[in-house]
Amino acid sequence: MPPPGKRGTALRIGASPARAKSRVWGRLAELRGPGVPARALDARALAALAANPGCRRRAILDGAGVDKAALAGALGAPSAFGQSQFAFMRGNAFEARVKADGGAELLRLVHQKLDPAAEPPQEPHVPDLAAAGPEGRTARTALALREAATAGGWTLLDHPMLALEVAGSPAFLEPDAVVVHPDGSWTVVEIKSFPMLDGAADPAKVGAAARQAAVYVLALEEVAGRLDPAPRVRHHVLLVCPKDFSNLPAASAVDVRKQRAVTARQLTRLTRIQDIVDTLPDGVCFSPELPAEELTAAVETVPATYAPECLAACELAFHCRARSRADGAVTTLGRSVRAELGGLTTVDDVLAAAHGEAGDPEDPAVAALRRAAALRAEALASAGQEAVPCH
Ligand code: SF4
Repeated sequence: MPPPGKRGTALRIGASPARAKSRVWGRLAELRGPGVPARALDARALAALAANPGCRRRAILDGAGVDKAALAGALGAPSAFGQSQFAFMRGNAFEARVKADGGAELLRLVHQKLDPAAEPPQEPHVPDLAAAGPEGRTARTALALREAATAGGWTLLDHPMLALEVAGSPAFLEPDAVVVHPDGSWTVVEIKSFPMLDGAADPAKVGAAARQAAVYVLALEEVAGRLDPAPRVRHHVLLVCPKDFSNLPAASAVDVRKQRAVTARQLTRLTRIQDIVDTLPDGVCFSPELPAEELTAAVETVPATYAPECLAACELAFHCRARSRADGAVTTLGRSVRAELGGLTTVDDVLAAAHGEAGDPEDPAVAALRRAAALRAEALASAGQEAVPCH
């Protein structure tokens, strides 16, 4: 029997998979709050989720489609994420320019950077991918890819919709474009508004774009795997950026094999959404309409694994950092420090171990801390100062 007030495993006992799934979907809707629409999980969010696969808090919030930026604001710790309206409009204008004339310039860049031996793109096929809802658009995209694989020539899919199963639930993803080459292979295209200066862009931004593109590659591979013969999904993607602060496009082929392998491995490590839902007390709700204290209590029902990397990847980072600091958790100092300290998980534990008040002297971390504390005391003594315990 599950403990009182906890959701048990009844979802799966005696229930058909379809019924269990619909009950999970119902529970996820309750978590968002009445009338709050689900926020789609995009590839950027998925890549960030895969970068911290141990964080159940992020997994359930993303799985339920909670707007984390709104939640962070309601918790009193607004995120520093988001694009200015101006940057957003500039990005859209650049993308429209790159895709103008039926994608002629975009296909020229794909041909030049990734497939120069193929016939030059002339009169490419640009199928209409419009359909109702994300499921309809996903099916329409799969059909267009299947047709393009056998039609030959170049095909440009503008904003296709792909589905990827994440933690037992489907996530719908929308790459900027997918190009089908004359040999039937598929390439992901990412169009970004950060500049490429003298053929090179900011490595951190390129890395983030590569992680995002790797998620699209994984989703495309799922589509390809359902075709016979399965088309090749290229592991070099095309990154298109403005050239030297102009509005002209510059492109670079980016190898995402490493990011693809890491993301695939991390996604398999995510705890199933249904399993997290099962552990939540009744009545938990993350609606940004709720008072801050109630929301804080709700968020605390799901364990988190904060690390400084969250600051660049998750809207809840300021909230989780504050809680982590208040708890004295050593993860606030970084994953590498946390790993070095073994079983010592709080700053108080570390100080007690260093001062010989706690900890197993045989533990290498404890021994290293005591040696460091002794060296510090010795150094201060030789400088004529008294060692003051650091707290
Ligand atoms: S900021 Fe919080 S919720 Fe987001 S990934 Fe980090 S620990 Fe998890």
